[in-house]
Amino acid sequence: MLDVVLKGGLIVDGSGCCSVHTDIAFAADRVVRIGDCTGADARLQLDVGGLVVAPGFIDMHGHSDEVLLVLPAASSKLQQGITTEVGGNCGASPAPLSSTALAEKTDEMRRHYDMRPEWTDFEGFFHSLEQTRPAINFCCLAGLGTIRSALDLISGAPLDRDGVKRAQALVREACEQGAIGVSSGLIYPPGNAADSGELVELAKAAAAAGSALYASHIRNEGDRLIEAVDEAIEVGQRSGCAVQLSHHKASRRRNWGKVHDTLARIDRARDRGLDVVVDQYPYKASSTGLDVLLPEDVNVGTRAEVAARLVDPRYAALVAARVELEHGERWNDVVVASVASEGNRRFEGQTLAAIAQATGRTPVDALLRLLVEETLDVGAIFFTMCEDDVRTVLSYRQTCIGSDAVAQATEGITARGKPHPRTFGTFPRVFKRYVRDSALLSLEEAVRRATSLGATRLGLRGRGVLAEGAFADAVVFDPARIADTATYERPQQYPLGVVHVFVNGTAAIRDGVETGARTGRVLRRGRDL
Ligand SMILES: [Zn+2]
Repeated sequence: MLDVVLKGGLIVDGSGCCSVHTDIAFAADRVVRIGDCTGADARLQLDVGGLVVAPGFIDMHGHSDEVLLVLPAASSKLQQGITTEVGGNCGASPAPLSSTALAEKTDEMRRHYDMRPEWTDFEGFFHSLEQTRPAINFCCLAGLGTIRSALDLISGAPLDRDGVKRAQALVREACEQGAIGVSSGLIYPPGNAADSGELVELAKAAAAAGSALYASHIRNEGDRLIEAVDEAIEVGQRSGCAVQLSHHKASRRRNWGKVHDTLARIDRARDRGLDVVVDQYPYKASSTGLDVLLPEDVNVGTRAEVAARLVDPRYAALVAARVELEHGERWNDVVVASVASEGNRRFEGQTLAAIAQATGRTPVDALLRLLVEETLDVGAIFFTMCEDDVRTVLSYRQTCIGSDAVAQATEGITARGKPHPRTFGTFPRVFKRYVRDSALLSLEEAVRRATSLGATRLGLRGRGVLAEGAFADAVVFDPARIADTATYERPQQYPLGVVHVFVNGTAAIRDGVETGARTGRVLRRGRDL
């Protein structure tokens, strides 16, 4: 007895080449047949003529982490066709939690979700997640910033020998508990204090524990982009880790075009035998904390400490002058996306220039005041890239798709602020804008970027492809209709054209509607991959 038969779709199997019009059948959590299923008995038979059947999309760069406990339905992900998310990116992971890492996570979860973390290590987090039964599969990197915080090593200096040893022990423990590798976020404190030597030592510990993947939000995506890419490649080379360059881009006009050079460097590293790939979200704006505009030597210590120092008017004036010098021409290009406090909610969706005007302050004073009032916890969108570069990176053969987003829904506790539209639109946008509208990628190649390329990189067994014996993670979409609808002005909108989504053989979306089935799994290194 089969559980599901999808009849007459175009099977795009994830490999990048063959697509074929035929049937596909699932039994329990597996694909059991690709081919004519006429006459087969199945609990659920769906006519998918005219639709594409692809492996479920793999979000190579996500930040849902503990938010999956708040929103196990993971609606913004699922509705894009995402069936697996890689979390723990940019140096920040949901574990390990102790010391400063525990205090900051506790504070953040309390303010945003009125919850508290009830785990301290990866095993505990994974257990909590399994109890919550998420709708999508989840695997996780160990964030090197979080590990520093968990050891209270937040001074702003590279770790000494003892610090490296203690951090290595936490990396080892995380990997033994199933983390798939390590991530660095080299613009975020405290991880940005690491020098290359420290990164190599910590990546080595991951490789020794069998999780040989180093994912990096590199040290600089603008004026020093090339040097930063070289550093990530060097860390991979010296540590024995594969390298994943996160959300690859060139920031700010004067750096546009540099991605040609970085991709050439990646090719040369690959020719030398190093495994390097990149991920990307297909938009011209980036999004992260507003505090990245602070000079590096100002953004040192906990958020509360940095905010407290900025209260002193003389210190704030010095900082303001430096921020104005570095970022003074950007105030129309930086938009506040989210704040935690009710009083500042009216600024969500506004540029810093507009906030300045509304409050009668200079933009830089408005910026610093907001950071202080929100204890640095302000999300922002930065219009900083060009379309040519987005297309150059997307057309590179080793580019996976990653949303760089936290799961949200259009209503409920997570539906806050004006998040980057990538949150709701990344994968459908690739198929609308770059497959259907401009033919930058073939359908088969776009599916490969969204599925098997990432699965291979992660070593995910039986996912990222449609083949007999593989897990039945699948998305069925209408190639003529699939489209993102999320905009910068109205980001909280689900995409169009995603018809059915199956996670481990069960329909999580049927006829465009979430079924409420939550059959995602935690994927652990050593057990599932
Ligand atoms: Zn990042």
